[in-house]
Amino acid sequence: MIRPVDHIASMSGYALAQLSAPEGARLISLSQNESIRPPSPLVAETAAKAMADGHLYPDPDWQELRQAISELNNLHARDILCGAGSMDLIAAIAVAFADEGRAILTSEHAYPFFRTAAQLARARYDTAPERELTVSVEALLEAVRPDTALVFVANPANPTGTRISRAELLRLREGLPDSVLLVIDEAYGEFADHLGEPLFDLVNRGDTVVLRSFSKAYGLAGARVGWGLFPPAIAHEVRKVMAPNNISAASQAAAVAAVRDQTYMLETCAITASLRTFFCERAMRLGLEVTESHTNFVLMRTGSADRARRIDQCLRDKGIILRAQGGVGLADCLRLTIGSEDDLSLTADLLGAFAKEEG
Ligand SMILES: *Cc1c(COP(=O)(O)O)cnc(C)c1O
Repeated sequence: MIRPVDHIASMSGYALAQLSAPEGARLISLSQNESIRPPSPLVAETAAKAMADGHLYPDPDWQELRQAISELNNLHARDILCGAGSMDLIAAIAVAFADEGRAILTSEHAYPFFRTAAQLARARYDTAPERELTVSVEALLEAVRPDTALVFVANPANPTGTRISRAELLRLREGLPDSVLLVIDEAYGEFADHLGEPLFDLVNRGDTVVLRSFSKAYGLAGARVGWGLFPPAIAHEVRKVMAPNNISAASQAAAVAAVRDQTYMLETCAITASLRTFFCERAMRLGLEVTESHTNFVLMRTGSADRARRIDQCLRDKGIILRAQGGVGLADCLRLTIGSEDDLSLTADLLGAFAKEEG
């Protein structure tokens, strides 16, 4: 009999929201934090052109992309690694720095892929409690054990949407033992950049990695491109774990074009923020509690797991798919990606009708 290895056999696959609309209804997916709009036409054009050389392997060193990213952020191109989505980098970091003798620590309601990465590495997965759905530096520091090898913090966080300040992250880093690698996942960083607290300089310490993604503000989820800034010694090990030629030529070209059109990306962030405010105001008027979000989604507290389930079903019946959060210990919550004004209005109307029917 052919048997998988134990740690894979005992693992469940990464769960995404069920994406299907009822007969005849248009599917409105507000479940995966995809961008509110497609990338700029220039991006698609550049990617298509890259396919003219589709018989050749892509640049395994992502040189043009690293150059574009480093120029934009004033970084050294050599300290950048690019992944097929930042998930690629998260998994590679876990496999390179954790194993069955080590633990990965993160926050209570953290991004679920951190757990998947721990399972891939066979590492123990530890969590520290949050305070008001926000990462607690004290709790994380208290939860460090002698075998803690990695700490993952998404900032802003998913699914809560909350963030902690640069000062808090520095306090975390300074409180962690030197032997612990801190990974700050800034997949939503572009939505918070206007706050003026970039973290890239922390990487110079040699014990911290900062990750970013093209999937969210840049609207390139379909291209699968992420990147990270690494201390050289850490990058050296992570690179060994990654498949060569991991990002297609079309995707690399798309990401370069996207980096070079900052105006478009910043406009996407501005549109998203204004529609987020629009939706939050309507949700609050309906008596729904919504977290203060610094991302392209909001987390709604519905009051109970049962009510969350009923609201989810009621919206699903109309083709609107949100993301339930039982998997991260927030069964009373639903996460909604900021979509078009029409889709958000329709969702708010249905939420209002649901509340009325409830009496
Ligand atoms: C969406 C997301 C990612 C990333 O994804 P990729 O599409 O793999 O770049 C990483 N971290 C968090 C917290 C996310 O929400």
